[in-house]
Amino acid sequence: MNCKYCKSENVVKHGMRAGLQRYICKYCNHRFHDNQNNLPRMRNNSTVIVTSLNLYYSGLSMRKTREQIENIYGKSISQSTIHYWVHKYATLVKDYVTSLQPKLSGKYHHDETEIKVDGEGRYFWETIDQDTRFIVAHLLTENRTSEEAIKVFKQALEKQRPIAFFTDGSFSYNDAFNKVFWSRYSASKVEWVRRVGIRARETNQIIERKHSTFKMRYKVMRGLKNDESSKELLDGYVTDYNFCRKHQSIKKTPAQEAGINVNGWKELIENAHAHKINKEIQIKKEVEPIKVKSK
Ligand SMILES: [Zn+2]
Repeated sequence: MNCKYCKSENVVKHGMRAGLQRYICKYCNHRFHDNQNNLPRMRNNSTVIVTSLNLYYSGLSMRKTREQIENIYGKSISQSTIHYWVHKYATLVKDYVTSLQPKLSGKYHHDETEIKVDGEGRYFWETIDQDTRFIVAHLLTENRTSEEAIKVFKQALEKQRPIAFFTDGSFSYNDAFNKVFWSRYSASKVEWVRRVGIRARETNQIIERKHSTFKMRYKVMRGLKNDESSKELLDGYVTDYNFCRKHQSIKKTPAQEAGINVNGWKELIENAHAHKINKEIQIKKEVEPIKVKSK
């Protein structure tokens, strides 16, 4: 058996409690029952949590999600609990999903959309990989200047260096493009493709179609109340899009298409817990002085 928290195999029996076998993990020191149905530190059955996330990200409101959960499981869960789960898990898995390395086609398509947060205009920037449909960068911003473009382009670059970068016809990306992607070596040159005229509309349509489900979803997003909570929700949507939704044309999630075998919220949450604990242990180990035994 693997540790429920950090996934280590270094697990031993640790007495009984309430008729249940308890275990202790020698790696992270967490104690737990052999209760694989519950996510670490959660009282509610993980199926209920995962179903709530799936329903919410498929476009239901928090209220409708609550109603569906009651219909399916006969369990009454408050709207604020669902709200709490959506935000908690979007935040928890972010660090973990950022650490993953998808195998991408390197043909990135970039654009921004105007969205409203509490009635105020904001920009949602996103860069998507052409063949896998994986969203490699996203950001919610107040302004639309080079500074923001640089942040998004850097995020995309950190995933994988593109071979081609598609934008609309405008030259407003000049500065950001040159700062982030310029290289003196021809082998790492990034081709910048600015779509103009009729051909642009065609190329645009291909990527728009590939991407339309996600766009449709966040355009009708509810609960964009303030910037901080909107950022968390959009992170959650991007994670859901990349890892949990099968793309109709490829019959896979973008992550699966990019060679990452993580399927759905349950696995994401479990892996994210393990990722976090392992990171904490790593940090402790590096800080603690190494004890040298004297002979
Ligand atoms: Zn452990």
